[in-house]
Amino acid sequence: MDKDELIAKLKRMGYLKTPAVVSAFQRVPRADFVPEEFKDRAYEDEPLPIGEEQTISQPLTVAFMLELLVPKAGQTILDVGAGSGWQAALLADIVGQAAKKKGKVFTIERIPLLVKMARKNLASYIKKGIVEILEGDGSAGDKKHAPFDGIIAAATAGVLPPAWKEQIKPGGVIVAPVGQSIVKLTKRKDGTFIREDHPGFSFVPLISEEK
Ligand code: SAM
Repeated sequence: MDKDELIAKLKRMGYLKTPAVVSAFQRVPRADFVPEEFKDRAYEDEPLPIGEEQTISQPLTVAFMLELLVPKAGQTILDVGAGSGWQAALLADIVGQAAKKKGKVFTIERIPLLVKMARKNLASYIKKGIVEILEGDGSAGDKKHAPFDGIIAAATAGVLPPAWKEQIKPGGVIVAPVGQSIVKLTKRKDGTFIREDHPGFSFVPLISEEK
């Protein structure tokens, strides 16, 4: 499969819908984020190894999560689990489209070698000031740059980290795996949450330093 065939397949299956998300999939080549030895499989709908026992997520899962998050131009998003940097680049492509207010993606990764990989893969976005990479435990969120319009995670926790619920703006959305379900939480003005669960996905664990 090539990029256009993958996008067409995800659209046909109903996973890719919103024009901004579709354009991001078109503009940000997954092949640029996949290690050399897997480049010929970059547009297969499957997770692929990126080293350190981690993976670049399956395109279908990324499409589904971005469609739930509904990122918009000019927003500030926290991306937990930078890995290869592909999802952060897709987000940067979307939030970076605003003419007036500059959007920003803060992406956190705990494994130093992957931080290095993400930094290299995201260099053009970092240079433009749309992406900042942070090294550390994303389960604590990012107090310094909070509050966020959206928080998205690529690794699964047993329970959603409380810090994320504190660091999301009213009206903001958290999309994250809990167990093997994708959960969407929308924060109401009164601080409570509307929750949607979408079971049947598979994720690497969120490794938290908190005991
Ligand atoms: N979004 C990534 C991409 O586009 O390549 C997917 C990366 S992979 C599925 C999940 C990542 O989450 C791994 O790189 C892993 O090291 C990272 N991770 C796991 N626990 C973490 C934590 N507590 N804080 C930050 N990153 C974490």
